[in-house]
Amino acid sequence: MVRLNSKITIHLNKLEGNLNAIKSRLRSGVKVMAVVKDEAYGHGLIKIAEFLQHKVDWFCVVFAEEGKVLRESGIKNPVLVFETPQKNKLGWYKEFGLTASVADPDVIELLEAGTDFHVNFDTGMHRLGVLPHQVDELKKKIESRPDLNHTGLYTHFFKSEIPEAGDTSDQLEVFKSIISKFRDDLYVHTSNSGGVFSSSHQDLQFDGVRPGISLYGYEPGEALIDDINPIIDWSSFLMQVKPIKKGETVSYGGRWEAPEDGFIGVVPVGYGHGLFRILSNKIKVLIGERYYPQIGTITMDFIMIDLGQDMPEPGTEVFLLKGNDLTAGDWARKAGTIPYEIVTSIKESLVREYKD
Ligand SMILES: *Cc1c(COP(=O)(O)O)cnc(C)c1O
Repeated sequence: MVRLNSKITIHLNKLEGNLNAIKSRLRSGVKVMAVVKDEAYGHGLIKIAEFLQHKVDWFCVVFAEEGKVLRESGIKNPVLVFETPQKNKLGWYKEFGLTASVADPDVIELLEAGTDFHVNFDTGMHRLGVLPHQVDELKKKIESRPDLNHTGLYTHFFKSEIPEAGDTSDQLEVFKSIISKFRDDLYVHTSNSGGVFSSSHQDLQFDGVRPGISLYGYEPGEALIDDINPIIDWSSFLMQVKPIKKGETVSYGGRWEAPEDGFIGVVPVGYGHGLFRILSNKIKVLIGERYYPQIGTITMDFIMIDLGQDMPEPGTEVFLLKGNDLTAGDWARKAGTIPYEIVTSIKESLVREYKD
């Protein structure tokens, strides 16, 4: 069910600015493989892909279903699917022109004739990927299937947003020794956003990079990147404005007590919409130019805000997230998580609007 009490606005001009920030770090000729998994990190798969299709080379998704949706929406770019090909979707790779990821030598036997695939190597992430000691077995299996199109090799970094850690160089060394055993015309890619913006980024680029979070305007780690900006705004409105007396409490558990007589506002958003309850009493909202604190426990569908002595009209717009003023990065720090989790938690039922 579509819910209209919130307005999610996605700024496409900022998305383009973030893409340009990424491109400005790339050696010439390095391709951009835009990661649009999980509804483009909550921003809306189809609209984001439509906007980016002529500005990037590839799209990356996790599930073949997402690749199918891209094709059904008319997207023509190459699409890499991260998941291990599943039996019920094996025909889709050829049918929809999707590139499969092989993370296990046995998968080679399952793929349908004519399937394009990249091999994903596990060089330390220890999630999906072929292990270094399986390379010879993998090569034999690939040789036994001349009816498949082996087109690429990749790996995934687990700490590239912390360049000084050294783990990425270790992974890189393992990866380089693996790729030296393959044809040198294969398409090679390694970097997520952390790799793109890392101090040693040019060594990590190979033929293409796979940025996700930075496209949407968030740093992959703690280090600030000043030319990327959040592309999402989230606003709702004052559903009710009412007086409160000194000493009265607000919301479940009475976790906020009015320090003086004043006014509170009720806004129809809550944890059921993706505003984490753990942020209770920790965030601010914007009405016009003024910030107001959210007060008391965040409930499933409503929050309350402390208006002090102000009494805006019911219906007045209230921003929860807004550009660089109210960000998912700030919520993430307060909630003990990362912006990735904040933006992918904003419910799909909240309608997204797209602005140029
Ligand atoms: C999610 C993902 C990315 C993008 O990572 P960001 O940190 O969002 O840039 C790249 N590659 C793989 C394999 C991923 O799973």
